[in-house]
Amino acid sequence: MKIAVFSAQPYDQLFLDEVNRRGYASCDHELSYLKAQLSVDTAVLAQGFDAVCVFVNDQLDAPVLASLSRYGVRAVLLRCAGFNQLDVKAAARLKLFVARVPAYSPEAVAEHTIALIMTLNRHTHRAYNRVREGNFALDGLLGFTLHGKTVGIVGTGRIGMATARILKGFGCRVLGYDPVPAAGFEALGEAVDLDVLLADSDIVSLHCPLLDTTRHLIDARTLAKMKRGAMLVNTSRGALVDTAAVIAALKTRYLGALAIDVYEQESSLFFQDRSGDIIDDDVFQRLLSFPNVLVTGHQGFFTVEAMREIAEVTFHNLQCFVDGSPCANVVHGEP
Ligand code: NAD
Repeated sequence: MKIAVFSAQPYDQLFLDEVNRRGYASCDHELSYLKAQLSVDTAVLAQGFDAVCVFVNDQLDAPVLASLSRYGVRAVLLRCAGFNQLDVKAAARLKLFVARVPAYSPEAVAEHTIALIMTLNRHTHRAYNRVREGNFALDGLLGFTLHGKTVGIVGTGRIGMATARILKGFGCRVLGYDPVPAAGFEALGEAVDLDVLLADSDIVSLHCPLLDTTRHLIDARTLAKMKRGAMLVNTSRGALVDTAAVIAALKTRYLGALAIDVYEQESSLFFQDRSGDIIDDDVFQRLLSFPNVLVTGHQGFFTVEAMREIAEVTFHNLQCFVDGSPCANVVHGEP
C-alpha cells in the first residue's frame, strides 16, 4: 500500500517507520511523509496513493473527501482519537474506509492536564525563569493547596476517568458530569449535573468530545455559573470554549485562571515553529498576555508510549483494511 502521511512531523516518521520496518503482519508499506496539512488545496498531493494518514487539524470535510476519492484514495487512517473534523456521512457515501486510534494513552493526556493545573497554580514556569536570573523573590508565585479542593470533570470517559483517578490521589473532591455516566466513576467522585459541577468546582476540566451540542459549552452563560476565581482547564478540543467570552471573564477577574492545550483556531498555529513570524491572531495574542493563562500547543498526547500506540494501531487499522477483516476502530457515528 502507498500511504501519504499528511501533517507529518519528524516524530511521526520515527514511530511509524519503526513499526513499518518491523513489517506489520509481514507487509511492507510505502509511506510518504508530507509536511502539508490536508485541505481542499492540498488533497491533490494524495493522487496515486491508496491511503492517507492524517492528524487532528487535517480537514476531512465533504469536498476534501470527494477529492481524495477522485484521486484513488480508499482509506483514511486517523492517527488520533477525536474525529470532529470528519464528515462521517460523506465518508460513508464515498465508501471510504476510515479508522482512528480511539485510546492511545488516556493517562498521557490526564497527566498533562495535571501538569497544567500544577504549573498554573504554583507558577513553576515563572519560578524557573526567575531563578535562572537570580531572582528568588516569591511575590506573584502564591498558589493554593490542591488537597481538599473540588475539581469538576466534564466528560468522564477514558481521559476524564484517568484524570479523576490522579486527582483522587491528590485528596481532591471530584465531581463528574457526563450524559452517559461511566461505570466505576462513583468510586472516584460524585456524578452531578453540569450546573452543580460549575457552581461547586474550584477547577473545571473539560474532557468531552467536540460535537454540535458541546461547541462553546463554556461561554458567557456557563462561565457566569462557575465559582468566582475558579480555574478552567481544556485539554480536549479548542471549540468547546468560546475564547472571546473567556477573555472577557479574565478581564473582569471573574475567571481566576485558564490552562489550555487546545485552541479553537489552533490549526494555523500549532505543531509548527512560528517563532520568527508575526502572529495575526489577536485573540490568541491577547490570551498570551495574561499572567494567569497557560497555553501549550496540543501536546497532551505526546509521550513515547502514546506515539508507539498510535503507530501500532494505525498499522493494525491499515491491515484490517487490506485483509477486509472487521476493525473495531472504524469510524461511524458521532465523535
Ligand atoms: P471518550 O469517548 O472516552 O470520553 C468522552 C466522554 O465525554 C464520554 O463519556 C461521553 O459520554 C462524554 N460526553 C459526551 N457529550 C458530553 C457532554 N455534552 N458533556 C459532558 N460529557 C460528554 O474520549 P476520551 O478518550 O476520554 O477523549 C476525550 C477528548 O479528549 C477527545 O474527544 C479529544 O477531543 C480529546 N483529546 C485530546 C488530546 C490532546 O492531546 N490534548 C489527546 C486525545 C484526546
